[in-house]
Amino acid sequence: MSEFARNLYPLALRLDGRPVLVVGGGAVATRRVPALLDAGAAVTVVSPELTPALHGLADAGRIRWVERTFEPSDVDGMWLVQVAVDDAGAARRVSEAAEERRVFCVRADDRTAATAWTPAVTRHGPVTVAVLGGGDPRRAMATRDAIAGFLAGGATASPGERPPRGHVALVGAGPGDPELITVKGRRLLAAADVVVADRLAPGLLLDELRPEVELVDAAKIPYGPARTQEEINRILVDRARAGRFVVRLKGGDPYVFGRGGEEALACAEAGIPVTVVPGVTSAIAVPAVAGIPVTHRGVAHEFTVVSGHLAPDHPESLVDWPALGRQRGTVVVLMGLKNLPAIAATLMAHGRPGSTPAAVVQEGTTTAQRRVTATLATIADAAKTDGLRAPAITIIGDVVTTLPAPGS
Ligand code: SAH
Repeated sequence: MSEFARNLYPLALRLDGRPVLVVGGGAVATRRVPALLDAGAAVTVVSPELTPALHGLADAGRIRWVERTFEPSDVDGMWLVQVAVDDAGAARRVSEAAEERRVFCVRADDRTAATAWTPAVTRHGPVTVAVLGGGDPRRAMATRDAIAGFLAGGATASPGERPPRGHVALVGAGPGDPELITVKGRRLLAAADVVVADRLAPGLLLDELRPEVELVDAAKIPYGPARTQEEINRILVDRARAGRFVVRLKGGDPYVFGRGGEEALACAEAGIPVTVVPGVTSAIAVPAVAGIPVTHRGVAHEFTVVSGHLAPDHPESLVDWPALGRQRGTVVVLMGLKNLPAIAATLMAHGRPGSTPAAVVQEGTTTAQRRVTATLATIADAAKTDGLRAPAITIIGDVVTTLPAPGS
């Protein structure tokens, strides 16, 4: 038995509602925080800076951000500390403060100095398997992958599987619940050398990546939206040309308002082979999980998915809003929260009754899901009053009230 296997007491922490401190706001913290949030922890991140992904969580009120460097008193009242800073001196100061206060401390930089280790984890419904590799994270992950593959009936990369080199996979990550990625998507993700992840891709999926995987946070790339897309395309092509297997992990389905087509084109132009792995799109899954079937016998025999990113009167909008106002089917609007007042007004102006049921669902399929139900005439105000924010989907049509609202 290695020295690391001795004197270890495996334990599962129930962090629901309990304060947990994360010191550092960079790549390591970005990978660790989602699992803590998923466990229900009340996460405080102490760091002068945050990655865009963490910024998003702070803006959404899901984590508390203390915008400065660490002070020992930050550990007061915490149940657990996660050190996610590069600087060894700074990490040691956090460890010492935790030790003095008898709070367990996980260190990403130096496992021998940590008082607690995070295992490699795989979750399958109610079953959680946590693996410690006797001080060798690679062994832990390889073992975890093998167990995960076994539990999923071969869903993850088999140990030692060689990924296709010089190849890009556009993988749909599903709408938010990490279990809603496809079996193929998950297998390719496990084999990736490079992962380029969207803001909308479920953070918990990133928690399972091997440490040597290069994680590119697409939300972090500077420049305006057009330049950003060019930069993402360039990263995909460059990494693939260098012989690596690149997974472009996109929220929902890669070809539903995800600019996946542009990425496929850029790869094709560069002669890079591309595999597309469709995903469960939020357009259908978010309403479904919030209790709204997009079609229902005798209620709606069609559904239309539109982007509300551009206001209905915007000259570049390609949506036929007047036609949508005239139809009776279900309308699902993505990216439309900002323009909801104008969208609702336009639909009503073209004949859709103001009494039509409507709902907005924020962060659907995740543990943070929220749903507001009203009518077409009142939905914009209702969403605003309840403080709903992106990512959110609006559903308009009689299907909204066809099933009993969840929780009622
Ligand atoms: N390719 C994605 C959509 C990308 S556009 C897909 O197929 O799902 C981004 C928009 O999708 C967001 O503005 C929001 O309208 C919607 N969206 C994505 N995930 C969501 C979620 N979990 N809850 C609510 N809306 C979501």
